[in-house]
Amino acid sequence: MDPDTPPGAPEDFAPATREKMIKASVHWFRHGLRLHDNPALLESIKDTEKFYAVFIHDGHTAGTNITGYNRLNFLTETLNSLDEQLREVGSQLFVFKGNPTEIFRILHKEAGITRITCEQDCEAIWNKRDGDVRNLCQELGMDFVERISHTLWDPFKIIENNGGQPPLTYEMFLQVAQTLGLPPRPCPDPDWSNVLFGEISDELAAKLKLCPHVPKPEELGCTKKNGECPVYVGGEHPALLHLADRLRVEEEAFQDGYILPNQVNPDLLGPPMSMSAALRFGCLSVRKFYWDIQDVYVKMYEGESPPSHSLTAQLIWREYFYCMSANNPKFDQMKENPICIDIPWYDSKEKLSAWEEGRTGYPFIDACMRQLHKEGWIHHVCRTAVACFLTRGDLWISWEAGLKVFYKYLIDADWSVSAGNWMWVSSSAFERQLDCSTCICPVNYGRRVEPTGDYIRRYVPELASMPQEYIFEPWKAPRKLQKKVKCIIGRDYPERIVIHEEVSRINRKMMKEISLKLKREMPHCCPSNPDEIKKFLRLPTTCYHNVC
Ligand code: FAD
Ligand code: MG
Repeated sequence: MDPDTPPGAPEDFAPATREKMIKASVHWFRHGLRLHDNPALLESIKDTEKFYAVFIHDGHTAGTNITGYNRLNFLTETLNSLDEQLREVGSQLFVFKGNPTEIFRILHKEAGITRITCEQDCEAIWNKRDGDVRNLCQELGMDFVERISHTLWDPFKIIENNGGQPPLTYEMFLQVAQTLGLPPRPCPDPDWSNVLFGEISDELAAKLKLCPHVPKPEELGCTKKNGECPVYVGGEHPALLHLADRLRVEEEAFQDGYILPNQVNPDLLGPPMSMSAALRFGCLSVRKFYWDIQDVYVKMYEGESPPSHSLTAQLIWREYFYCMSANNPKFDQMKENPICIDIPWYDSKEKLSAWEEGRTGYPFIDACMRQLHKEGWIHHVCRTAVACFLTRGDLWISWEAGLKVFYKYLIDADWSVSAGNWMWVSSSAFERQLDCSTCICPVNYGRRVEPTGDYIRRYVPELASMPQEYIFEPWKAPRKLQKKVKCIIGRDYPERIVIHEEVSRINRKMMKEISLKLKREMPHCCPSNPDEIKKFLRLPTTCYHNVC
């Protein structure tokens, strides 16, 4: 391997020797849509006569074929931001529509490209796309250079160090990750001073159907539906500004003597603070996020080393799910997925639609689902509540149905992270307890994380005047009060589609039976521990007891 290659980088296909000048190099952006901490981009601009930055709308990359408006809008903003930055240094982002292999074949022939670089997209769904381009490079004698910067560690190294299989539990994952040492620090920004930029002739542009500008969602056939209203802005620059705000929140928490402020105080009403969409699209480097938080801590505590990975424990969940899915192309489904338990879920189109559209009659659940539709993002506690409600908690509908809805609406929708979380919450994998002891009550859980009911009032306007006492269970409000606040249950706001007390009892019994069967038949479905469950649910410690 090249001595300059960063630790953990995959072996390149036909790596260029240092003496060899590359005729033309393409950096193929897929995720990793940024200039900072982009090791593959640095490789791309090195020793080349011409450089091209390329994004290809192939219908799949970045989830374009399954997504709704908000995510596509976030992607468009991100690509525009990248294009602007490249124009500032004298180039542009070349955006194509079509099949990457065909486009690269033509670029090789007509523009002389001999090297393709990209950030590793470790999820198994991208294997075919990347395998095809790798094969093309082999066929045409081009270099293919892939670098790891979407994750803190190389998931395949973790798998290798764990004996060929991904570690089954979070704790085991952490132990194996320790063997790889600390994640690399971000690499330097690109130095554009000596880079010569390639151009595309009008003739070639016509042949390749080069997009005249970054296509808007509408130009990709995705229109705004009723009420979609993005609150997050895509792009590297907004992500870095946002990170600065986020670091201030972390710093304040350290000052007050605690860590993980987002987890300790779930704030459903405050300004948007999440980094998840920026991390998903790679507008923000996960290594930068990780190290900036660690550095804030070290600075404040004057060199004292931070408590291992716990300052950024959520980022480890992300790594864990990427790693679990890296060699499992069936990670997003129940059948043929070796880590997922087969559960005989019910099939109910009506109940699924009521859940999806925020008409379950449970105000906290409906508020979460309506926020998801409108803004494309909901807090972790909301995701947990609605996922549990759809699956093992109340409706007993398959997590795969819920996952599709999340893929469509979430701006941070992530093939593996979302599927992993859905399996976790529905007790389909990872979580050995299965007895639903911390199962989530759609009334009490919401009341505990946001007691005033203002979150519900914001997203379920029918209930705006309902007093705090009844807002989480409005069916209990006396008829006279319902009339007074102009919200008759069953007319202005739906009746409950199920009675939680009844269905959760039945569901718990079914889970118990599955659990007993598993103990005999599927020892591989392995343990977490109660503490891990509580941390995952992100409930304030005072709420650990008696959650149901
Ligand atoms: P923070 O608490 O600030 O965490 C920082 C980052 O860590 C997040 O941005 C995210 O990248 C990562 N992270 C946090 N929690 C988790 C977790 N449980 N698993 C994996 N990574 C995590 N997150 C996604 O990024 N994409 C998804 O598609 C997604 N689907 C989910 C589905 C369900 C059913 C559940 C319960 C959770 C899902 N999550 C998903 C995880 C989590 O809810 C979000 O990452 C988090 O709410 C983002 O908010 P934040 O940036 O403020 O999080
Ligand atoms: Mg791959």
